[in-house]
Amino acid sequence: MDCRELMDHLDAVLEGERSLDPALLQHLAACLGCRQLVATCRQTILVYRSQPAPPIPAALHRKVMKKVNGTSAQPGGTPTHPRS
Ligand SMILES: [Zn+2]
Repeated sequence: MDCRELMDHLDAVLEGERSLDPALLQHLAACLGCRQLVATCRQTILVYRSQPAPPIPAALHRKVMKKVNGTSAQPGGTPTHPRS
């Protein structure tokens, strides 16, 4: 197990899965760099989750709703007009 292999399983490590490969845990115990990376990522996630979602600008909301309502009857976005 090396740092690169740990990166491949970073999501599982960050989620704290109980069924982590023992080799991952061994690497974490021995590698200061990976421990610091995991700690920094966890801290970043906590900060991110503690923030309220930013409000959607009214203009963007109108634009999205117009698109959604305008294309809901025509999946694929290509209107077909047999008469033209
Ligand atoms: Zn490492």
